[in-house]
Amino acid sequence: MTKEEEEFRQLLKEISILDELEQLLDWDSQTHNPEAAAEMRSDVVAYISKLSVDRQTSDKMAELLNKFSKNPDLLSEDGKKIYRRVNREFNIQRKIPNDDAAEYSKLLSKAQAVWVKARRAKDFNIFKPYLKQIIDFNKKFIGLWKTTEQTNYDVLLNHFEPGMTVAKLDPIFATLKQAIKTLMNKLKTGIEPNDQFMHRYVSKVTQEKISRDFITRLSFNYEQGDLDISEHPFTLGLNRNDARITTRYDVHDFQMSLLGTIHEAGHAIYEQNVDPKWARTTLSGGTSMGIHESQSLFNEIMIGRNYYYWIKEYPRLRELTGETFSDIDFETFYRGFNTVHPSLIRTEADPITYILHIIVRYEIEKAIFNDDISLDNLNQIWNEKYEEYLGICPQNDTEGILQDIHWAGGDIGYFPSYALGHLYAAQFLHAMKQDFDVDKALAEGNINLITDWRKDNIFQYGCSKDPNEILMDATGEELNPDYWIQHQNEVYKYVYQLN
Ligand code: ZN
Repeated sequence: MTKEEEEFRQLLKEISILDELEQLLDWDSQTHNPEAAAEMRSDVVAYISKLSVDRQTSDKMAELLNKFSKNPDLLSEDGKKIYRRVNREFNIQRKIPNDDAAEYSKLLSKAQAVWVKARRAKDFNIFKPYLKQIIDFNKKFIGLWKTTEQTNYDVLLNHFEPGMTVAKLDPIFATLKQAIKTLMNKLKTGIEPNDQFMHRYVSKVTQEKISRDFITRLSFNYEQGDLDISEHPFTLGLNRNDARITTRYDVHDFQMSLLGTIHEAGHAIYEQNVDPKWARTTLSGGTSMGIHESQSLFNEIMIGRNYYYWIKEYPRLRELTGETFSDIDFETFYRGFNTVHPSLIRTEADPITYILHIIVRYEIEKAIFNDDISLDNLNQIWNEKYEEYLGICPQNDTEGILQDIHWAGGDIGYFPSYALGHLYAAQFLHAMKQDFDVDKALAEGNINLITDWRKDNIFQYGCSKDPNEILMDATGEELNPDYWIQHQNEVYKYVYQLN
């Protein structure tokens, strides 16, 4: 290794250590902090975060990246992969003037507090001036980042899903909108499953036992992670040997904690199985929001809602819950477990209508950045789209445009990653089925076969491959929504007993 690459790796190691510290504080805040601790804790987080950003945008970093761009032979093969990613992020950060960065960061923390207030008052108008400032800042930044072939909104999509564009997404979302409409109409002609039993009482202690038991058999490794409780479930990948997850329990909704834990475990096993050679290089986590979400959703939807999986697991669930489901046969259980109810709230949506929630947000974000629409009636536009696509209309802004915190945190262009996660997951499942009998593996509880495929094709690479490279190498084809459409049609044909 050249002296330059050694210096580069040393700098990245320091950044990675600082980032890990910051994340550890975040874990503590979200799981164990006393309520009054928030303010003083934010001083600590801000300080450590600054130390990391200073290194990321330092002159030393600029000098090294400049050397590597002129002379790539200073880097090993792995070093070149690290350089590609670091250089991309460096250019994003370094182009923003320091004063703007500081002002924007202050604006975001204020905006999140205002968003909470606006939600309480159910009034978008309270949040609107802050949203406008956030959007204006982003428009200014886009001017600094944009390449000639990108649309404004492409620039934002790229931050979360490198390589993603409106040109790719528009036709995919148009296809999905039509396919979901057709499927939802079909479901109306089917036999509505009985799902009353889904609300039966299951104690928190039992639910925790179930969660722990189920994810163990889905390859979650407790020596490299843990399960805790928080208000909003999340995964924290500190490093491959410490990937922690949280869940929450509702005694009348065992599905929420079970599928929620299975979902987060999908994020965690990704982190736990990245090749150790990428540790402390910034390539050690999942490669993008969309691919990360594809792995949690693979767990939750492709496995956690799978017929063959439940053939194996339902007896286990019954055993762990005593008499609770003793009168519910497998058929009734499986169909009830997969009932579809359109909801106004994205995070409570079923796997089919979920995509529509994302399309609403995508169309609005795209219109703001590519067509410069006014924010004045944005809540109206939101409600009209819900009426049109989901057939339900929010009664107030809290049920509507104010439901997600993302915009208040400056995360614009982020939502499509969730939909991409669903589509990638279905495409991965299709590819996996070409290699071995996945249904048989699930019915026999042979999860290792499935995890090994995911390790070989996805997990091990960390961020060393871009999302599209992962997808192309694993499935041999560009993103194709047909696999998701086929999969869901098959599942719900059975659940709703369609002809
Ligand atoms: Zn997730």
